[in-house]
Amino acid sequence: MLKWLVVIAVIAGVYYFFIKKKPLKTSAENAAKEQSDEMVACVVCGTYCSVGDAFIKERRYYCSKECMDGS
Ligand SMILES: [Zn+2]
Repeated sequence: MLKWLVVIAVIAGVYYFFIKKKPLKTSAENAAKEQSDEMVACVVCGTYCSVGDAFIKERRYYCSKECMDGS
């Protein structure tokens, strides 16, 4: 009977470990999202857009695919 309690305790421990890990991952994703709200200027036309929406090529930011292809 004690064996089962240990097994249940281990399962609960693993369960809590994964449950606890999940919010950490979400906060990391939120941090990445916050970073993506940073405004960057298009290197071709100078239009500002958020990093999340910008097109990135060779570490340069472009506002649109047209600017990215045209450079
Ligand atoms: Zn542009």
